[in-house]
Amino acid sequence: MKKHNFSAGPCILPQSVLEKSAEAVLNFNGLNLSLIEISHRSKDFVAVMESARELALEHLNLQNKGYKALFLQGGASLEFLMVAYNLLEKKAAYLNTGTWSDKAIKEAKLLGEVAEVASSKESNFNFIPKNYSIPNDADYFHCTSNNTIFGTQMQSFPETQIPLVCDMSSDIFSRRLDFSKFDLIYAGAQKNMGPAGTTLVVIREEILGKVSRAIPSMLNYKVHIDKDSMFNTPAVFPVYVSMLTLQWLKDLGGIEAIEKVNNQKAELLYSEIDRNPLFEGFVANKEDRSKMNATFNLVDDQLKTNFDTIVKEAGINGLNGHRSVGGYRASMYNALPMESVQVLVDVMQNLEKGA
Ligand code: PMP
Repeated sequence: MKKHNFSAGPCILPQSVLEKSAEAVLNFNGLNLSLIEISHRSKDFVAVMESARELALEHLNLQNKGYKALFLQGGASLEFLMVAYNLLEKKAAYLNTGTWSDKAIKEAKLLGEVAEVASSKESNFNFIPKNYSIPNDADYFHCTSNNTIFGTQMQSFPETQIPLVCDMSSDIFSRRLDFSKFDLIYAGAQKNMGPAGTTLVVIREEILGKVSRAIPSMLNYKVHIDKDSMFNTPAVFPVYVSMLTLQWLKDLGGIEAIEKVNNQKAELLYSEIDRNPLFEGFVANKEDRSKMNATFNLVDDQLKTNFDTIVKEAGINGLNGHRSVGGYRASMYNALPMESVQVLVDVMQNLEKGA
């Protein structure tokens, strides 16, 4: 029986997507060739790339609004640098809500001044700062919508006069937002979309072309736009799996439908964390809690061996917290069924009964 997979990333993908992907590795589109041994310029793969880019824009409701979707490589980590390379002339504003924001800031500092508008670093990132002001003379404002490691999530986004850039690696396609508020969104595939190896970048094209530096081709968004994400050989397999996942989401009813399920899953788990006296949540303010990654601890560390044993017996995978937080982290991405969350809640209740 398949495990209940709470892994933070790479993470669970829909079973039907895994099956179709496996089939395509052996025989893609009935060509009697593998997906991973044909030219990326073949008609069959070009159709995959086009469909993946279109589906991404469709889910975000950004079609025909001046946006382009790209499937690049180098992970979200390379976007930390690419964003600055393409948009930072003098100064950029960053909100620091976790390890990944911190890393994005580090890269931006290589290319210009960074104004950190607010940070929760002092309290190990257990809340989302609010009521900060964003300097209007910055070239852009950057934030991280969901902090995968700490389990916090931005529930609202500031109105900005300057381009709004967001790392949505761990909550893209999980909830409805007015995505047209954003000028650049990026996300590594390996959470809600596909295997590691490709990164979705969605850009409002008119924000490009405003910096004076020479941009190396591979780091230049305009080059990738002009070449339809085929400037170099794309990550064909990750793009294909992403396309299938985006199609799966569409068949399910899109972001609106999955958001309902995601809300139910989060409600079920957080209610148990709040109710069960053996557990406590890591995040300081309930309104900042992530619906994708729930972080929690045992109140009494002596129960750890027992809890870990029954978690394992229940077929649960990937529940350990990140090393910088400790405790537990239950990642509840789009493909995780409600049933898995129920199994975890049952295990938490069983621990209470036996304690
Ligand atoms: N941003 C966020 C929010 C993440 O969760 C991660 C990875 N877990 C990254 C960036 C880095 O992504 P990658 O490993 O694809 O470079």
